[in-house]
Amino acid sequence: KAKSQKRSYYQVFQGDMHNEALAELQLENEIRQGLEAEEFILYYQPIINLTNNQLKGFESLIRWNHPQKGIVTPFHFINLAEQTGLIIPIGLWVLKEGCKQLDKWHNHILNSSDNHKTIPIISINLSSQELNSEKFLPTLDNILKETKVNPEYIKLEITESSPIFQEQSTQYILDAIVDRNIQLWIDDFGTGYSSLSYLHRLPINGLKLDRCFVTDIETNQKKAKMIKAILSLAFDLGVEVIIEGVETEKQLEIIQEMGCIWGQGYLFSHPLPPEKAGDILLSSN
Ligand code: C2E
Ligand code: MG
Ligand code: MG
Ligand code: MG
Repeated sequence: KAKSQKRSYYQVFQGDMHNEALAELQLENEIRQGLEAEEFILYYQPIINLTNNQLKGFESLIRWNHPQKGIVTPFHFINLAEQTGLIIPIGLWVLKEGCKQLDKWHNHILNSSDNHKTIPIISINLSSQELNSEKFLPTLDNILKETKVNPEYIKLEITESSPIFQEQSTQYILDAIVDRNIQLWIDDFGTGYSSLSYLHRLPINGLKLDRCFVTDIETNQKKAKMIKAILSLAFDLGVEVIIEGVETEKQLEIIQEMGCIWGQGYLFSHPLPPEKAGDILLSSN
């Protein structure tokens, strides 16, 4: 009896594995088709200068405009895209689309008769795999050539946990980015368990402090002290800091008092579809 029971558990387990694998395979195919059908879009979340409340620019955040499911966030597809290598074509598309959008905004602003003040930056997320792809640098150069967008307005965000910050053999990719006058930013700073040595070793322009630091800043004295220390270290190293995930007025007040200059979060705005971001940009000028 025991034996047959064991077998049935085993079969149930196998069945689950099978379903999961099947669901993943299906999603993988859907992502592939979605890319082909141009169902991916970029949303844009404002980055704010906390000293004068002015818009600095936007972080681009990918969404999947799925024919049945509607707007799907990266949580539901980025991991699988990374596991299957689909992140490479997706990432190259993101890079191109983000730069094209920035170029459009720049042209619009520069060609308009208004006395515009904000020439926006764009901050684009890169995956490690994409950086290691041999297509990355040629694609980047093509985009810069095609759009003639000023590279000084492009920031590339790489998560702190990316192996590229620890490996010598791929550092030339980071150097190549910086050679093109593009800014290099560390994303999710403070979550990567990595040594801080890259801060002085590599040409980093800025840090995006992970939102877990700011969420309980009102009640957690230790986190507040850590933010202060990070801001001070960054300032001494000449590295800029954006605090991510600012949601309340109180959080804003605290980080402003600490002297933080850049912020991003739902308090200012959720990520917006391109037309809405454009409206905000042009009305802020
Ligand atoms: P991330 O780069 O750290 O982006 C910040 C995430 O926090 C975004 O989630 C954003 O919508 C969300 N967020 C912004 N403000 C707040 C806030 O005040 N409160 C809370 N709770 N959340 C806030 P999203 O858009 O779902 O993106 C999740 C992650 O997916 C990103 O984290 C990034 O790692 C990845 N991702 C997004 N777009 C791309 C892309 O184009 N390429 C790659 N490789 N990864 C991307
Ligand atoms: Mg990011
Ligand atoms: Mg982040
Ligand atoms: Mg992230």
